[in-house]
Parts: sequence; structure tokens; C-alpha cells
Amino acid sequence: MIVEARGVSRSYGSTPALREANLSVAAGEVVAIMGPSGSGKSTLLHCLAGIFTPDSGEVWFDGRRLDTLDDGRRSELRRTAFGFVFQFGQLVPELTAADNVMLPLLLGRTRRRHAERRAAEWLERLELADLGGRRTGELSGGQAQRVAIARALVTRPRVVFADEPTGALDTLTGEHVMDLLVGLAREEGATVVVVTHDARVAACADREVVVRDGRVSDPYTTGAAR
Ligand code: ADP
Ligand code: ADP
Repeated sequence: MIVEARGVSRSYGSTPALREANLSVAAGEVVAIMGPSGSGKSTLLHCLAGIFTPDSGEVWFDGRRLDTLDDGRRSELRRTAFGFVFQFGQLVPELTAADNVMLPLLLGRTRRRHAERRAAEWLERLELADLGGRRTGELSGGQAQRVAIARALVTRPRVVFADEPTGALDTLTGEHVMDLLVGLAREEGATVVVVTHDARVAACADREVVVRDGRVSDPYTTGAAR
């Protein structure tokens, strides 16, 4: 298992969001997390990705405890091993598409010329070859999400975490964006964990799990999740 939540609980103040949630994701798997609004999907994703620390329970990545790492090591791991695609706001609208894609490489101290080459490759793979010089604030929603996917994959992450990546798009555009994300992640051998309320998006996944009331129901999870 590359990513695991074991009995993870987390509350916001007195509001419990996760109640001993269990989820195991195998390397290379594409898993869709479904469930009603407010059921805890996003909180689960943030715990798995080491963005939130659980109140109790354990989070594992590739044989290591993630939740007990100090902040520095956890953010280092996020930067090197994980890619993120969210619904809104992860791009810098004043920067060009190419600069947005290059950003994680430059933060990781890749040389600029090398980063430029990689960004161009990834823009092409996302059918954005002609838009590299455009500021992302001027792109359509579907184009911007494809830039976000290029930026998430350019560092060759082991795991891509996506939270409603098609939430702001119309159905057809959303399906195309999801097909690109899943297709490219598979080519790269990356694992994908995607939160979505859209059954058509979830249909691209190898497996769907459902979060209800802070618990994951899934035949593959350990423990008394159901
Ligand atoms: P989902 O992604 O399934 O919509 P969330 O994980 O966002 O669910 O939320 C789970 C529960 O936690 C909900 O009851 C929600 O209202 C609550 N919650 C989420 N974020 C916050 C927050 N920042 N402050 C207070 N409550 C929150
Ligand atoms: P180089 O410095 O010669 O580009 P690397 O060690 O960076 O070589 O890459 C080795 C191989 O992996 C090459 O085939 C390269 O195309 C591929 N590769 C490396 N990084 C990426 C990336 N971020 N995206 C796509 N392919 C990559």
C-alpha cells in the first residue's frame, strides 16, 4: 500500500469530520472518494496528503508514518512525492501557463533551462502547446485545470491528490480533464486519489469508495468501517 489512513479521526472544534476512517490505496491505483457534501471527503484527502494532521489515528506513505513527521520533512515530502490538483486557486493568474508549470521545479532547484524544457513537454501532453505564453488568468476553466494538472505532474510525483478537480467545469470539459489526468498519471505510474461528487468522473477510477459521516465504506478497507 502506498497511501493509508488507519483509524483517522479529525474534528473542527466540536464538529467531527472524520471518525476512525480507514483507507488503503495500492501503488498505481486510481481511487475516487465519493460521498455527500460535508461527509469528510476533503478532510480525508488533506490528512492523506499530510496537509492536515489527524487528531488520532495514523497516516502512512510508502511504508513511513506521515502524520508524525515534523512540518519541515512533511512539506519536503509533499513537494517531492505528491502532486496536487484542486478546484480553484492553485495557479498564479498573473504568471504564464509555462511559468506556473515550471514553478514547482524551480522551487525544487531544477535549473531554469531544464525546467523550461520540462514545462513545454508537459504543456504539450496536456494539449496546451500553444498556450504556454498566456497568463493563466486569461484561460478558460478547462484550460486552467489542464495547466494545474501539468503543474501537478511535472515533478513526477508518486501520488496525485485531487479535490473536486472538475468541480468548476461543465460535464463534457470535466470528463476530458479527468481523462487527461488519469491517462497521464497511468503513463507515469502515479497513484491518484481524487475527491469528486461526480459519478462520471469517478467512473474513470479503478475503485470508488464512499465517505459517509466521517467513515469510509469500502470492501477493501481494514477495520469495521462499514
Ligand atoms: P466534504 O469534502 O465531504 O464536503 P469536508 O471534509 O469538507 O467534507 O467537511 C466535513 C465536515 O467538517 C463538515 O461537517 C464540514 O462542515 C466540517 N468542516 C470542514 N471544514 C471546516 C472548517 N474549516 N471549519 C469548521 N468545520 C469544517
Ligand atoms: P535529463 O537531465 O537528460 O533531462 P533526467 O534525469 O532529468 O535527464 O531524466 C531522465 C529521463 O526521465 C528522461 O527520459 C526524461 O525525459 C525523463 N524525465 C525526467 N524528468 C521528467 C519530468 N519531469 N517529466 C517528464 N519526463 C521526465
